[in-house]
Amino acid sequence: MSYEKVEVPEDGEPITLADEETGALDVPETPIIPIIHGDGIGTDVGPAAQKVLDAAAEATGRSIAWMRLYAGASAREKYDENLPDDTVQAIRNHRVAIKGPLTTPVGAGFRSLNVALRQKLDLYANVRPTYHLDGVPSPVTDPGQMDMITFRENTEDVYAGIEWEAETEEVEQVRAFVEDEMGFDEKIHDGPVGIGIKPISEFGSKRLIREAINYAINNDRDTVTLVHKGNIMKFTEGAFRDWGYEVAEEEYGDDVITEDQLWDEHDGEAPEGTVVVNDRIADNMLQQLLTRTGEYEVIATMNLNGDYMSDAAGAQIGGLGIAPGGNFGHGRCLAEPVHGSAPKYAGEDKVNPTAMILSGRIMLEYLGWQDAAALVKDAVEDTISSGTVTYDLHRQIEGGTRVATSEFAERVVERIHELA
Ligand code: NAD
Repeated sequence: MSYEKVEVPEDGEPITLADEETGALDVPETPIIPIIHGDGIGTDVGPAAQKVLDAAAEATGRSIAWMRLYAGASAREKYDENLPDDTVQAIRNHRVAIKGPLTTPVGAGFRSLNVALRQKLDLYANVRPTYHLDGVPSPVTDPGQMDMITFRENTEDVYAGIEWEAETEEVEQVRAFVEDEMGFDEKIHDGPVGIGIKPISEFGSKRLIREAINYAINNDRDTVTLVHKGNIMKFTEGAFRDWGYEVAEEEYGDDVITEDQLWDEHDGEAPEGTVVVNDRIADNMLQQLLTRTGEYEVIATMNLNGDYMSDAAGAQIGGLGIAPGGNFGHGRCLAEPVHGSAPKYAGEDKVNPTAMILSGRIMLEYLGWQDAAALVKDAVEDTISSGTVTYDLHRQIEGGTRVATSEFAERVVERIHELA
């Protein structure tokens, strides 16, 4: 493995795949882990998270050999390109990596580098846990009720990038095909129009839904909820729901039942240890997240719904500064916070690094370093509970000490040393 556009560390060994079928990894004591700090506030939260993860690894008798990768602004500056092949290859080869946010221009310019990375590596499951940390202010009265994990399909839907700009030859060809050949002649207004395609495949839906069900089984969760807008988009979102129930009925035997089976065969009482798969319409789901928060545990949904829902759920547990995530597929994990690059705060050493730090926790769990992962969560929670917070949380609590991004990370590191 030789790279030109990567900072290869002097020490460390690569993580390898131990079992092709299960995706289990062989993790050395000093694994090489690629990191992209990211654009905008990525330059603040990236290094902060790195320090905390180093401390957690060292406190549990290990270390991390970081491999610095470039994408977005940092890659343009160094190599005059947005996403060097070496960056993608290094993540592919090293299997477990972490990234900060990357900026995507709206309307024109290049397509999302985040989406490109997920697609190139076929990281088909975007996993976003939302749970409340003690001491984090929230706009809802009982934020502790939220303990949910969203599995968002990462490669399809209107995010697939199959779209045509208004007033181009291509879009007029698509319009003519849709109107003349497919018979939708009254559906598209005259005049300039942009058109996008929404592919939802059986393959893409089922592999994502399996991840959600497997997670529920392995983590003692009782329900998996398929979230869709199948009442309107019958052949895409409706099909997602139907394929979800097919997976539940055909692939898991007695371990999983559908909501219909729950009522028809079990009088509404799920047998001990059984996962129940149900479904909710997306708009209703967004209100239920607020009104019946505790009833939802594992969500499986398509790309766009998942994006909206996990931001909304994130707001209930303290906002984007807190919400972590990770992208998974084929025995690989690319951890990344839910938030973007918040350009107006870039380089100010101001924003909250918790989302990036907790994304690191997801990465540590994936490595099988459960003790280090727990230490990260406990240290962050203790630091916030003690009232030491960044500006976003400080303005919502009484008292408390407002600290910079880097100082917050230092306090978390100190707490890791105390707890270890
Ligand atoms: P954003 O998440 O960057 O910021 C929205 C607002 O949330 C900020 O103004 C700030 O008030 C708050 N916020 C975000 N992160 C915070 C943190 N760590 N601490 C405290 N407050 C925080 O969303 P945006 O402004 O819509 O997007 C900016 C850029 O980020 C766009 O180019 C967008 O495409 C990109 N983006 C990237 C990713 C990713 O890399 N995965 C995700 C979302 C958006």
